[in-house]
Amino acid sequence: MSAAAPRAPILPGATLGVMGGGQLGRMFVHAAQAMGYATAVLEADAGSPAGQASQHHIAAGYTDAQGLSALAQCSAAITTEFENVPAQALRTLAAQRPVAPGAEAVAVCQDRAAEKLHFQRCGVPCAPFAVIETAQQLAAVPDALLPGILKTSRLGYDGKGQARVADRAGLAAAWASLQHAPCVLEQRLPLAHEISVVLARGADGACVHLPVQQNLHREGILAVTQVPAPDVPQALQQQAVHCAEAVAGSLDYVGVLCVEFFVLADGRLVANEMAPRPHNSGHYSIDACDVSQFELQVRAMCGLPLAAPRLHSPAVMLNLLGDLWFGADGAERQPPWAQVLALPGVHLHLYGKAEPRRGRKMGHLTVTAADAAAARAVALQVSALLGLAAY
Ligand code: ATP
Ligand code: MG
Repeated sequence: MSAAAPRAPILPGATLGVMGGGQLGRMFVHAAQAMGYATAVLEADAGSPAGQASQHHIAAGYTDAQGLSALAQCSAAITTEFENVPAQALRTLAAQRPVAPGAEAVAVCQDRAAEKLHFQRCGVPCAPFAVIETAQQLAAVPDALLPGILKTSRLGYDGKGQARVADRAGLAAAWASLQHAPCVLEQRLPLAHEISVVLARGADGACVHLPVQQNLHREGILAVTQVPAPDVPQALQQQAVHCAEAVAGSLDYVGVLCVEFFVLADGRLVANEMAPRPHNSGHYSIDACDVSQFELQVRAMCGLPLAAPRLHSPAVMLNLLGDLWFGADGAERQPPWAQVLALPGVHLHLYGKAEPRRGRKMGHLTVTAADAAAARAVALQVSALLGLAAY
């Protein structure tokens, strides 16, 4: 089943539904409301980032039949902000309302093995890998995949559900530590850079994309995004866009899709993973592009034209993790926002999460400036004020 798009565009005034109440849902709600739509959020947590901002909040789990029915009742179309929404829930909704992206595309993105097979089908290179679901498959892993990274096939995020392994003994121990869950073992590759492509595709196959982002991760979590990508040649950026479009096209994808890539030390491009929704690396588009990834999500699900986004300002995005809410003595504190906001071109986004925890995404900020050097200079000043590492 491919994503159903509405036959006639869904116009402002209608209510748009979203599965999930996290920060991506919150920014979707903001974009939809700015365009004159109302929103409905399905999310069990009463005080969720998206639920706080939305006109309607349905407090139910993703598989709750009554909750799904209530969401379908009040929504003209439905999207998702959380990639692990059970595909069956999306199928149930799709029987009643247009749902974008569709259940089958989301199902591919939920499973690392399916995702990699899909990349290969599209002729998009990815890291050499083996699927490990049985002791036999573990024993049969080729030496060439070590040292490697063992990743659970499902439910991993921000580096969770992953273990770096050096040799066969380490591999067996790591699989045990992941409770023998179905996994993929990837060869550990020499990364020069990481980039991502955020695109939006309409039901008519029309595709637009944000400029290519260059991403820096710390401890498996995105820390910094720079646009334009400072270290990656144009031709390689074009290649990444073509790969992402091929991946979306062959899924008959409708909505916003992000594909993450590695640029290897020898200059080759390989796909890492994809997400069937707006992505953390695309948050800068709210402040630095004339169309954000969240507005593209609204337009795609409503069957409206997809305008190609234009970067009007070079940008640096810094993720704000809960660690910033703790001082050197371990006591909770407020980060020095007033000093940060005194700097030019700083756009602060906090997600309304009450409890800061280390490693938890509390917000992000985007620095825009007239040129990339100025954006970088301010981002480094912000980093120093907040106690973030320079990049
Ligand atoms: P996300 O939050 O993006 O969903 P995730 O937990 O799904 O993250 P990955 O994107 O698979 O994890 O990996 C996290 C990071 O670990 C990558 O961005 C990269 O820095 C590093 N990494 C992952 N796979 C490899 C690999 N095969 N070789 C080298 N480094 C890797
Ligand atoms: Mg990733």
